[in-house]
Amino acid sequence: MSLFYQQKHGLTELSDAERAEMTALCKDYCDFITKAKIEREAVAESVQLAQAAGFVPYVSGMSLKAGDRIYYNNRGKGLMLAVIGTDPIDSGAAIVAAHIDAPRIDLKQNPLYESEELCLFKTHYYGGIKKYQWPAIPLELHGVVALKDGSVVTVSVGNQADDPIFTITDLLPHLGKDQMTKTMAEGVQGEALNVLIGSQPSDAEKDAVKANILSLLNESYGIEEEDFISAELCVVPAFPARDLGFDRSMIGGYGQDDRVCAYPALRAILECTAPRRTAVCILADKEEIGSEGVTGMKSKAFDRFMEDIAVSLGGTLRALFANSFCLSADVSAAFDPTYPEVTEKRNTARLNYGVCLCKYTGSRGKSGASDASAEVVAFVRRIFDEANVKWQMCELGKVDQGGGGTVAMYMAERNIDTIDAGVPVLSMHAPFETVAKFDVYMTYRAAKAVYHS
Ligand code: MN
Ligand code: MN
Repeated sequence: MSLFYQQKHGLTELSDAERAEMTALCKDYCDFITKAKIEREAVAESVQLAQAAGFVPYVSGMSLKAGDRIYYNNRGKGLMLAVIGTDPIDSGAAIVAAHIDAPRIDLKQNPLYESEELCLFKTHYYGGIKKYQWPAIPLELHGVVALKDGSVVTVSVGNQADDPIFTITDLLPHLGKDQMTKTMAEGVQGEALNVLIGSQPSDAEKDAVKANILSLLNESYGIEEEDFISAELCVVPAFPARDLGFDRSMIGGYGQDDRVCAYPALRAILECTAPRRTAVCILADKEEIGSEGVTGMKSKAFDRFMEDIAVSLGGTLRALFANSFCLSADVSAAFDPTYPEVTEKRNTARLNYGVCLCKYTGSRGKSGASDASAEVVAFVRRIFDEANVKWQMCELGKVDQGGGGTVAMYMAERNIDTIDAGVPVLSMHAPFETVAKFDVYMTYRAAKAVYHS
């Protein structure tokens, strides 16, 4: 037996049955992210799937027993699900946490304007984007407009075959001489991310194109210009997720960070019955802007959900957290042969090598903000190996090259043993991200392994 630690390409080791299961899972995943382009839609889709799998809405104070399947919808933007285990609740829960928000462009609160007989939306961006990647691609508009009477209008334009789409314009190369001398950070400015939405005038005397757009919006949604003040409207790429590569081994699509971990985690808990430890799945919002706000992972909404469960089963939140384990399921950067210089080859994630464990997350040139202990890493190695989960270990990039964090640190702060693990991604945070199907499949198996640990 060799003492060397040697990893192999995962696809060479799959049986036909496993390959079929992987393909089916990834097809469902593509459908999910094509429909769910923002966190609100991810919650709505997930709730439907949860109800079909026998989960019921949890109301504070509800009595609970082993085998119960519950979910809590946090303001339509975050979701928590649990399957109550047979062990005493004070012995801890098996938690998988992922996030369902993704980098995108949001409308400003006063977005609508006309300039030179074209109508546009002013925007600001949400999460870390490279601004130059967003002009000259097809875009959709998703979100809600909340009206003063308390009703909420849902907006989704661009997702259906005969819907119109939108775009952010860019300069033609012929006139881009000055632009092209700027750095990539400065070539497209934040205030240049204006979304083109119309060019047809009405018979109004002033701002006739804008007047026409407003009357169309009023017809479709019953809204007026002032209603944008209480709207959340998101501009996202207008393409479906689909197979990538001649061999169809990969998936390309928008918003895979972190729905590529959220969907496998969701599937794993929907398929979880009669666990020993209580199984919990958290689909959080706001990770891309620091996990702030009532629907982010820092929110007490999570503590309250967990405390309610603990109390209902005769335990305490303190004991529950202290004895729980959390897999913080978030993506990592995959090694890109076109840009090898930013990664350290021995400690980087590769496509098709399985779910990627990260001991040090949130680190920038130092040991991590949510450093999982050696003991926790050993525990995860054991449960993954026992469940035949193919995994790899990585750090995000070279030591001085930057870094990134996720929800892991907010779990660790709660006295929950946590490790970061997820799917390696190429072109992370771009409008079109790429993953390998094998790694999606292994992340699903990893979540299952946690729930049955
Ligand atoms: Mn992420
Ligand atoms: Mn991210």
